[in-house]
Amino acid sequence: MQRRRVIGLLSLLPLAPLAGALGLAGCSREQPFQQLEGATMGTRYHIRFKPPVSSFDAAAMQAVVDARLEALNASLSTYRSDSLITAFNEAPVGQVMPIDADFENMLSLSRQVHQASSGAFDPTVGALVNLWGFGWPKPEQPLIRLPEPKAIEAARGRFDAVTQMAPGKLVKHAPVRLDFSAIAKGYGVDLIAGVVRAHGVQHFMTEIGGEVATQGSGPTGGPWRIGIEAPDPVVTGRVLARVHLTNGSLATSGNYRNFFEVEGQRFSHIIDPVSGYPVPQPPVSVSVIAPSVALADAWATAFMVLDEERGLAVAEENQLAVYWVYQDNTGHRTRQSSRMQPYLDAAKH
Ligand code: AMP
Ligand code: MG
Repeated sequence: MQRRRVIGLLSLLPLAPLAGALGLAGCSREQPFQQLEGATMGTRYHIRFKPPVSSFDAAAMQAVVDARLEALNASLSTYRSDSLITAFNEAPVGQVMPIDADFENMLSLSRQVHQASSGAFDPTVGALVNLWGFGWPKPEQPLIRLPEPKAIEAARGRFDAVTQMAPGKLVKHAPVRLDFSAIAKGYGVDLIAGVVRAHGVQHFMTEIGGEVATQGSGPTGGPWRIGIEAPDPVVTGRVLARVHLTNGSLATSGNYRNFFEVEGQRFSHIIDPVSGYPVPQPPVSVSVIAPSVALADAWATAFMVLDEERGLAVAEENQLAVYWVYQDNTGHRTRQSSRMQPYLDAAKH
């Protein structure tokens, strides 16, 4: 669903393995933690979980996860020529197109964050994403010249031009293209978490490309510990801060290994939907804890667009736990909303 210029932005590092405790159970009758993984959305998903019983059928659970993710991709992947979203994007203005329940959920969650972020999050950036050369299909030539202002104006999104006529029916009143890349991975994590819970698992962490859901305790018996990676375009894995989560949803949007260059200038893959241009100086990364991973994912992207003061104000208004990492010539600095503090305080113990 989302193409990374450089694959492997893993801003969130599950720390349990670093503690060397994965697979060790506190009590001999307890089940040891297990891990499952698979490919999805141009990256991989991981599930660490404690099976509820020794006879637990992990392969059966994984088959349900894979089927659910496959259905999601068939609906929302802009990589696929036969997905519902591609059909909607290719359809003429005014033609009523079929959508499914996942598509409807994406629209309503996106609408919520779009409104609360004053348009900083906008899934109708699809045409701009293509114009700036980081859409799908990948342009044959890399972008060598900046797009003309007229072309940028013409590609501007309009979420108000997308209307749901009835359940399962969507229409556009202007030639907009939808792109749910900034929220779909988070939503996929919520779906995996739902499947895992439905199989009776109480203690788990699951993630897709750094967007994370946790429940219960980690392998050491306490909360799950998630590392926020220090910005470094080359070296991965240096931990800048630790977030402790029990039942939590955390997502990160990051820029430092995901940008493109035109005319010698570096551009972020995050677009300011209002200007139509890539955000000039976005934070290095933004991590958000929200009621669902889909919301955390969408908000993390929105905070890449909002400037520092506005971002903090919006985080406080919406009672979100947010952690920003900025980089300047002297190194990096961090900032956080008031709701983030308890998660970091816990991490000190
Ligand atoms: P994320 O990594 O979750 O921040 O998502 C980034 C992706 O979302 C980009 O590669 C674009 O496909 C898309 N995108 C870029 N800017 C925006 C925006 N302002 N609102 C929604 N989606 C965006
Ligand atoms: Mg996002």
